[in-house]
Amino acid sequence: MEIMFLGGAREVGKSAILVKGEKTNLLLDYGAQTSKEPSFPMHVQPKEVHSILLTHAHLDHSGGVPLFFLREGVELVTTGLTLELSTLLLEDFIKLSGFYLPFEYIDLLAMEKSTRRLKVGDKSVQVNSEFVASFPSSGHVPGGTTILLENGGKRLLYTGDINLRESQLLSGADLDFGELDVVITESTYSQTEHDPRQKIEDEFVSFAREIVERGGVLLVPAFSVGRAQELACLLRSRNFPHPVAMDGMALKANEILFRYQESLRDPVLFRRAIEGLDVVSGWSHRRKLVRTPGVIISPAGMLGGGASVFYNSEISQQPRSGIAIVAFQVPGTPGRTLLERGLTLVNGRPTKVKAELRRFDFSGHAGRSELFEMFNHIKGHPRVFTVHGDGNSCEVFAREINERFGFEASAPQIGDRVTV
Ligand SMILES: [Zn+2]
Repeated sequence: MEIMFLGGAREVGKSAILVKGEKTNLLLDYGAQTSKEPSFPMHVQPKEVHSILLTHAHLDHSGGVPLFFLREGVELVTTGLTLELSTLLLEDFIKLSGFYLPFEYIDLLAMEKSTRRLKVGDKSVQVNSEFVASFPSSGHVPGGTTILLENGGKRLLYTGDINLRESQLLSGADLDFGELDVVITESTYSQTEHDPRQKIEDEFVSFAREIVERGGVLLVPAFSVGRAQELACLLRSRNFPHPVAMDGMALKANEILFRYQESLRDPVLFRRAIEGLDVVSGWSHRRKLVRTPGVIISPAGMLGGGASVFYNSEISQQPRSGIAIVAFQVPGTPGRTLLERGLTLVNGRPTKVKAELRRFDFSGHAGRSELFEMFNHIKGHPRVFTVHGDGNSCEVFAREINERFGFEASAPQIGDRVTV
């Protein structure tokens, strides 16, 4: 196999890897950088690609996939749930992008028609004529998988984004990879430890109780897919006694997840959490919610759009209320400005936040210890490539893997090719 790193190398965003066999080629993810003007991985001619294997729905992995369906002949191989959640996010990407995108809604329909829908955990799936792929659960987001690829007697693992710890929504990643020759691993939190999950959950629930019981409203800006449902399940699992409302695209994600409950860790908890929500129905409902003690979970997660913009402009000015930031905030987003400077836009003017602001590290990625733990489960003596990390975290992580495990490890740059 020849591997070429098209994106997501020494960066977070637009992940894409081209794998060439004897006669055919495939892509592992083909994402987009969406935080500023959208950009895509290195160009590859659609006619050179026979299949795309997609790990999960997040746009930094899926955002460029529709580019390959402007013509026929390419097959998308992914779980049914990832297809549906990706389509939801891609529709939104098309609708909200203020910039030109090189594909449109009709290309999503072509993509759907060309998809082989798998289940999380499917094994030994024949891809093209010469690859065999398995899709173990990644524990990162519903529908998400890692990818195990076999070709010419070699076995390659691509982690995509991976989480070893159990969350409310998902069990931890399936680590039964067997003997490996190549590992391409994410490095996002390779230099950062997460606090214990239980501690973060306890702190979040008591913050929510404190705010509501003093007569305030807690705004939780959250991504539509995964994080919004994770927090609804957490509050339900602790029998949170106050109203919890949910708004925006998260409600559409709920509908999709309802049809794939078997992919979730605890379908009963999920159903109870979603059925207990106050589903936001329109503007009079929203205006009422900002005056009524309770929790509001609403996209967008970085306050850059969606109903959370309205909620934030009201709730941020109420000293009794609170805002819980539950995800990484990309530099330059309103959520990051809120966190770093305590400022937010009210009627177009930067205004000091009066509500109580707290941050909770509900990451869906393995932290430093878990990434090393993953290598403890790996058999054989693989060659390792570290990708999907900011700053120098890919390079440092590669060096550490080499020192701890004796594996040949490196942090490729975009455009690098290797034969394995
Ligand atoms: Zn992801």
